[in-house]
Amino acid sequence: MLATARRTAALVNALAGDRPDPAGVAAVLRAHGEAEPLDLTGDDVTAMRAAADLLREVFAAEHADAAAVVLNRLLREHTGPLRLTSHGGTTPWHPHLDHDDNAPWDEWLLASSCMALTVLLWDDQLPPGGSCASPGCRNVFITRGSGPERRYCSRRCATRERVAAHRRSRAARSADGSR
Ligand SMILES: [Zn+2]
Repeated sequence: MLATARRTAALVNALAGDRPDPAGVAAVLRAHGEAEPLDLTGDDVTAMRAAADLLREVFAAEHADAAAVVLNRLLREHTGPLRLTSHGGTTPWHPHLDHDDNAPWDEWLLASSCMALTVLLWDDQLPPGGSCASPGCRNVFITRGSGPERRYCSRRCATRERVAAHRRSRAARSADGSR
């Protein structure tokens, strides 16, 4: 479930922006072990982007209670009942929340993500993810295994914000005229 949750965060990030590239989204799916064929169309990606926007609300929730409210709404409005599938004996049995093994990509994304994020919240009793605190960065991340107070999507954003805070405090001191 953690691998699926990380795939969710990577897809939400890849689907940000006005015109996400189908080849780029397929590359993220491939990198997270999704089986071929990954022949995404522009329409698939547009629909997946709408699903990613819905999932962003889970990452925006600051407390477990708020994340649970969002997940319950998504589960009620956008997924089917829980069932087990082995894709006709080709995979181990695993749970699905989409309506069909061959559901469209956007339904698959929303359903598999809701499943993974729900299990993480259940296990940890914490929000399953967060949004980068760097202004101008819209990336989301999974909080599990990343320390108690993770605020940024990446080392790059954390470093940039640390440097910016340092510059601000230096500017404030010299504006004081005290040194
Ligand atoms: Zn960031």
